[in-house]
Amino acid sequence: MDQIPVEQLKGVGPRISERLQRLGILTLQDLLFHLPLRYQDRTRLRPLADLVIHEEVLVEGEVVDAQIAQGRRRSLKIRIEDGRGALLLRFFYFTRTQIEAMRPGRRLRCFGEVRQGPQMLEMVHPELQSLEQPAGQTDGSATGPESGSASGSAIDPTTGQAVSAPANPEPAGRLTPIYPATEGLQQTSLRALTDQALDRLQHDSAALKDWIPTSLTAPLQLPALANALLLLHRPPADAGAELTTALLERSHPAFQRLAFDEMLAHQLALRRLRRARGAQRAPVLRGDNSLRERLRAQLPFQLTGAQQRVLDEIAADLEQPRPMMRLLLGDVGSGKTVVAAMAALQVLEAGHQVALMAPTELLSEQHLQSLQQWLEPLRIELAWLSGRHSGSERALILERIADGQARVVVGTHALFQAEVRFAELGLVIIDEQHRFGVHQRLSLREKGERDGAIPHQLIMTATPIPRSLAMSAYGDLDLSEIDELPPGRKPIATVAVPDSRRDEVIERVHAGCREGRQTYWVCTLVEESDALQAQAAEDAAADLRERLPGLRIGLVHGRIKAQERASVMAAFKAGELDLLVATTVIEVGVDVPNASLMIIENPERLGLAQLHQLRGRVGRGSIDSVCLLLYHPPLTRAARERLDILRREASGFRIAEADLRMRGAGEVLGTRQAGAIQFRLADPMRDAALALAARHAADRLLVDWPDHVEPLIRRWLGRRDDYGHV
Ligand code: ADP
Ligand code: MG
Repeated sequence: MDQIPVEQLKGVGPRISERLQRLGILTLQDLLFHLPLRYQDRTRLRPLADLVIHEEVLVEGEVVDAQIAQGRRRSLKIRIEDGRGALLLRFFYFTRTQIEAMRPGRRLRCFGEVRQGPQMLEMVHPELQSLEQPAGQTDGSATGPESGSASGSAIDPTTGQAVSAPANPEPAGRLTPIYPATEGLQQTSLRALTDQALDRLQHDSAALKDWIPTSLTAPLQLPALANALLLLHRPPADAGAELTTALLERSHPAFQRLAFDEMLAHQLALRRLRRARGAQRAPVLRGDNSLRERLRAQLPFQLTGAQQRVLDEIAADLEQPRPMMRLLLGDVGSGKTVVAAMAALQVLEAGHQVALMAPTELLSEQHLQSLQQWLEPLRIELAWLSGRHSGSERALILERIADGQARVVVGTHALFQAEVRFAELGLVIIDEQHRFGVHQRLSLREKGERDGAIPHQLIMTATPIPRSLAMSAYGDLDLSEIDELPPGRKPIATVAVPDSRRDEVIERVHAGCREGRQTYWVCTLVEESDALQAQAAEDAAADLRERLPGLRIGLVHGRIKAQERASVMAAFKAGELDLLVATTVIEVGVDVPNASLMIIENPERLGLAQLHQLRGRVGRGSIDSVCLLLYHPPLTRAARERLDILRREASGFRIAEADLRMRGAGEVLGTRQAGAIQFRLADPMRDAALALAARHAADRLLVDWPDHVEPLIRRWLGRRDDYGHV
């Protein structure tokens, strides 16, 4: 069925074909994998006396009255009764023929959502079906509105066109699927088309090959593929509320079967990627410990056990002739930068260059400063390449990178550009993985390719991702985790304050700064616009300068020139500024241990992960820190819950889990930008148990059914090229 174009189905002309294509449906297989979003229950008639507001129900009744109401909006009101109860049908769009057809005595079957109207319960624009008159009663026209058919007829509510139907049909025998649709493609046609595809499947279940042997699915109590699809598209009527709930929550075995197939296909694709990686060569970077020893001796602290463990894992990888692909997870403030520096030194000891890439200019500047502070005493040459360097300055930097003088190169995505050439790149370190996509990740690696060997890669992220999720989402990477904060960290007291108490907060900032605490004042905006963000920060800074004339106040945002920003940050770090007004540009990486007070304006606009990142800018020293969430009431329920979680929880891991519960895996990982896998049906969190099973199944399939591997990957990832680049 993956070979049969939808055009073979009845009713698919060029127009429908084009619309199906918009939904990604080209073949019968695509159509079968286009699953309903939800279901309607048209299997039972609901007495009009038992209606419940907001429920979608099927009802029948006799027209007792039809009239046009001239309210604010003209509408056609039809009252129907069934002997015990009554319901009002309301239409805002209607035709003359429709009004005339609605004469008293006509029997109607309707499907729609029950709402509370001004006088009584209503259905607005229900789907209508005109039923045959009871014996002995004749209706002048004996036809449905706008219909010439002699028996009952259905009226498509959106087109107003009649669809012929058998006389007084029984209610549906199965739940009615509602598919993801697109403009110009009705549910009725999607149903008619899936009917045809399902019909073929039912008569010849081999038409859609089930690439996964029953011996793998049966122990998991998962149904055969064809059965799963039949059930999902046309669930039986008698199943009751439990089945409907299981289908909606996607915990039903039929749905789980498909999620399993999808995760298995991804696992197989990742295995293929890994195998290909195993065949790739990378420089063996052993090093003699000389530089690492010197840095260790010079650090004002000892590495934590977790940092050391992770460093050992990285060191072992770098000594392999295969490229390392390692994801380093570590909460905000867990000390990833020094780990990156130590890893870099091993590479330098072995005579290769290191590239360190950050998602923003500001963060790359911060990294540059940390590295300078540690590496310059060791006489290591660093280069900083940013989008702002141009002309001869840029040419000079590029030359130093190309001839190998610059040993460590720090930058943003500017490092991806074709003109950047390295002499002997051995390791690429990417900070804040979630901002880079898989493609970018791969492209920087190719950049360093030399004599068939490609550089090792270390990806650092402070986005706390539960490990289970990371395993299935970043399956092509090995994982290291810094699960311990440096000692002596004081917890951050987090308090939510309504902005009606802004004056009080400003007074508190004043008092804090006079005690020698440094303070961040963070302005947030919903809009992504740089300009608006900048303006908000400018305004806040102007206001604070006016009200706190005694304080030294700095300002950073995305619109300020890199050089000026760097000098403001340096001044803040050196304690020459008391208060730093900033946009969320300081979200990642900024490290000023003496800063111990943070005000976040309108925190309700941000997600949990971002708030946690921001808050992580304080609590880095040995003084007690405070984070004030200056919110604008009223809060939505979700916003209140986010702020509550933040007040209660300090651990990024637990915050991530709460975030996951509230939002689902897709959003936590970010949607478009994420380097994470995007599943169509599976959800790595909800289906975590299946993910594990899929990993085992992948092992078995590769050994015992190797020729099923490619077709399965093609079925689920066929038109995507996420993994095509290796
Ligand atoms: P993140 O993981 O968020 O990038 P950083 O690398 O910025 O964290 O480290 C946060 C702070 O902790 C920095 O000031 C760093 O120098 C300090 N630090 C790192 N490791 C240790 C350690 N083992 N003991 C004490 N302080 C440390
Ligand atoms: Mg960092």
